Amino acid sequence: MTTPRTYVIVGGVAGGMSTATRLRRLDENARIIVIERGEHVSFANCGLPYHVGGVIDDRSALILQTPESLGARFALDVRVRTEAVAIDREARTVTVRALDSGDEQSLSYDALVLSPGASPLRIPIPGVERGLVLRDIADMDRIIDAATDAHRVVVAGAGFIGLELAENLRHRGLDVAVVEMLPQVLRPFDAEMAHIVAQRLRANGVELHLGTALSGIEPDHVVLDGGAATLPADLVVLSVGVRPESGLARDAGLDLDARGYIVVDAHQRTSDPAIFAVGDAVVKQRFDGDPSPVWLAGLANRHGRLAADAIAGRPHAAVPALGTAVIGLFGLTAAAVGRTERELRDEGREIRVIHTHPTDHAGYYPGAEQLSLKLIVNAGTDAILGAQAVGGGADKRIDIIATAMAGGIPARGLADLELAYAPQFGSAKDPVNMLGYVDDNLIDGEQSVQWHELASRMAEGWKLVDVRTADENALGAIPGSELITLDSLREHAERLRGERVIVTCKVGQRGHTAAALLRQYGVTVANLDGGYTTWRAGTAAVSTP
Ligand code: FAD
Repeated sequence: MTTPRTYVIVGGVAGGMSTATRLRRLDENARIIVIERGEHVSFANCGLPYHVGGVIDDRSALILQTPESLGARFALDVRVRTEAVAIDREARTVTVRALDSGDEQSLSYDALVLSPGASPLRIPIPGVERGLVLRDIADMDRIIDAATDAHRVVVAGAGFIGLELAENLRHRGLDVAVVEMLPQVLRPFDAEMAHIVAQRLRANGVELHLGTALSGIEPDHVVLDGGAATLPADLVVLSVGVRPESGLARDAGLDLDARGYIVVDAHQRTSDPAIFAVGDAVVKQRFDGDPSPVWLAGLANRHGRLAADAIAGRPHAAVPALGTAVIGLFGLTAAAVGRTERELRDEGREIRVIHTHPTDHAGYYPGAEQLSLKLIVNAGTDAILGAQAVGGGADKRIDIIATAMAGGIPARGLADLELAYAPQFGSAKDPVNMLGYVDDNLIDGEQSVQWHELASRMAEGWKLVDVRTADENALGAIPGSELITLDSLREHAERLRGERVIVTCKVGQRGHTAAALLRQYGVTVANLDGGYTTWRAGTAAVSTP
């Protein structure tokens, strides 16, 4: 019999515990030791905001496993309240310290796996120690305690966790204000898509202070923009980003990137072949663009499995991370995958952008909700670079597009996907198929104009024609547009011959028909992508802050 191998895993939550349990399934004889600094392993960090709001009523439901249950099922030696403090790479040992007794022990390893995660950033502002953060169960308990006597909360940071907390603190009946440095909520979305989310938050009583910096925390208020304003607050939660917990790796001389994230190869191996790393502390290969961190539970779990596979001698390479993410806020779903238009334009990339606003299922079937969809495509290759969805069925559409991206299906190919349909679930032409049809039309030479390009086109002399009905137009129209309804467009087509015309409707669909008609009358024509709906969201987004 061969000598059993010893594997030490630092960090006992998402990535670490996936590695440990997979290793056990692959190697019954190994000694597997999991070192966790906190009190709990395998807890559901993604569920923490929902216990704050009482949506998940039972606190113990968040603790998925205990050291005892993991010992019984997987024969893991799980040590909580124990910290890994040093690695001796030559000797292949890791020093661990029991936090309660202070006792230290040196553990030998054949392979060491680091999954230490990332800790919430504390920005250097006066009074920052008064702010609470949310990463683990103890943090959650502190927030719940503080919320019990609080009336007015300020959440700093409008990212996923900050907004989930804002929603749940509203559920507790507190007044909630969110302060965010960027001019929008949710950075993985473009401004016009994020605006829909912002509107839902405001409609549910969340006060948004966008484009605003938190500059100090006092006992009963916060200071904004270096003293320009204050907001009352008897509880402040900071959710302004994270930093990798890579100190152990740095001290051991492992390669880190410029931001301090651990560098690994496609098998999660660090610059030391006996040390692997996974999860939030690791820089990820991206589907498009430079390696960068991605803080998602799915990736931590997936890469934990890959690390175990590599250690057990059956390596599978990681596929690039797409950054597929979803959030639900006050009944509104918002999901995104890949790159944003903002990032790609900043990089000077040639892209095509498509906005649509269908319903999530057949409009005649009860309960249909609006879904706003955005697709971003490489103009040269037709590769899908990103997508965003807000509204009914957003999660399903983004998952389909993420799958298409992973499979290398080009944007035009979305038209050909055969998706399940009955009226309560979708449309015979699913919103995802429709994106493919629009892309197909653009490839074939149809022109579109984005909401943020409209003003400059009009300044260049393009005429804007609104083809909606007079009633729709009366409810709100783009300044400078002329109303010519779609049904009367033929009568005016001759007059427009030789002109440069942008057509607009509510969502872009009637504009497409209008553009096809005018083109045949010798008009140079472009359709306002996403119509009045996208234009209104985009212009409102840039003017709101
Ligand atoms: P973690 O799960 O953070 O585990 C790291 C562990 O390592 C920690 O418990 C830490 O105590 C321990 N540790 C660190 N250093 C040491 C050391 N030296 N010795 C011993 N132990 C150490 N992702 C999603 O995809 N969807 C979501 O909805 C979602 N919601 C979230 C909500 C919240 C409130 C939070 C905090 C995160 C959420 N995430 C979500 C992110 C997701 O939880 C992380 O991407 C994932 O947990 C990362 O796994 P990890 O193993 O790298 O780190």
